[in-house]
Amino acid sequence: MSTISKELDKLKNKYSARIKSKIVSILNRNEIDSESLYRLAARICHRHLGDEVHLRGIIEFSNYCGQNCFYCGIRADNHTVKRYKIPLEQVYKLSLQAREYGYRTVVLQSGEPAPYSPDSICRLITRIKQTTDLAITLSCGVYPAAVYRQFADAGCDRYLLRFESSDQKLFNSLHPDITLEERLQALLDIRAAGLQTGSGFLIGLPGSSPSTLADDILLTSALSLDMIGCGPFLRAPQTPLSGRPSLLLNKSTYYNTLAILRILNPLAHIPATTAFDAIDPHGRDLVLQRGGNVFMPNLTPKSYRKDYQLYPGKPCVDEKASQCAGCVRRRLARLNRPIAENPGGSFRLRHIL
Ligand code: SF4
Repeated sequence: MSTISKELDKLKNKYSARIKSKIVSILNRNEIDSESLYRLAARICHRHLGDEVHLRGIIEFSNYCGQNCFYCGIRADNHTVKRYKIPLEQVYKLSLQAREYGYRTVVLQSGEPAPYSPDSICRLITRIKQTTDLAITLSCGVYPAAVYRQFADAGCDRYLLRFESSDQKLFNSLHPDITLEERLQALLDIRAAGLQTGSGFLIGLPGSSPSTLADDILLTSALSLDMIGCGPFLRAPQTPLSGRPSLLLNKSTYYNTLAILRILNPLAHIPATTAFDAIDPHGRDLVLQRGGNVFMPNLTPKSYRKDYQLYPGKPCVDEKASQCAGCVRRRLARLNRPIAENPGGSFRLRHIL
């Protein structure tokens, strides 16, 4: 058994079988009613992180991807996608725009790996850091450990890499180009490089079950992450899973999963990911009322947005960045949630240092 497999088992076994069976029971809606669960998650969020919501402006800077994840609309083999790569000079200007909108973090996300050299990404990071007070989150895939160190040295603050499923068999059946071990190793490398680390999984993958979902929740929690990003599985056209039903027991499964994650991870940043608006018109608002504390308004120029559709029904595809900036403020005002005026670094690290 490889070291990382042993680590994985150790992480999964960190929690007792009793906790797992409790989570399964909650997911099956036998243990506690959803509204009580949401109230508890919201209380825990309020107590540990306050009411503030952190805005992280996201720039989907390229939709090129070398991977073929079975569920993803921009997988390499989907030749119906018009590929784009935003020039880094423009990405820099979009970052300045983020600051003008009052965002304190910019998230640079692309397919894997990003079609720019690590050196050029580092130059962009350094330039943004030298001219603004923005925090930077990168999310562009698996690299050798030395590259994560290079990103950190250039000034990158955080890195997001979802493991998608903790079930090795399921993971391997959906990811022809990478193993779960490689992905988890990358997460360890990211943390070792000194980057605040984010990860998460897809909720409701075909082939998953309440038991695998409970394992996903437990692995996420055992990783002691700074940020936890999860979204619902949605059947994307032109993908091998386009005809497969999701695990979906009930729509509340998605929200219950996030609420349990909040209860087990009181100090993690948990975004209301955009995909929640694809399952409910006010899905992101519901996540914020049920334990979420981060919102990611889109900064990608309108002309590129329709080509970055990992899943169907993605919201805000026809909006401009300025409209997203106005929309998020109205949404948060309706929820009576103040906007954080700081970059929203790791609460976990603040707690242990
Ligand atoms: S999920 Fe990410 S790595 Fe997988 S195909 Fe889509 S963009 Fe590429």
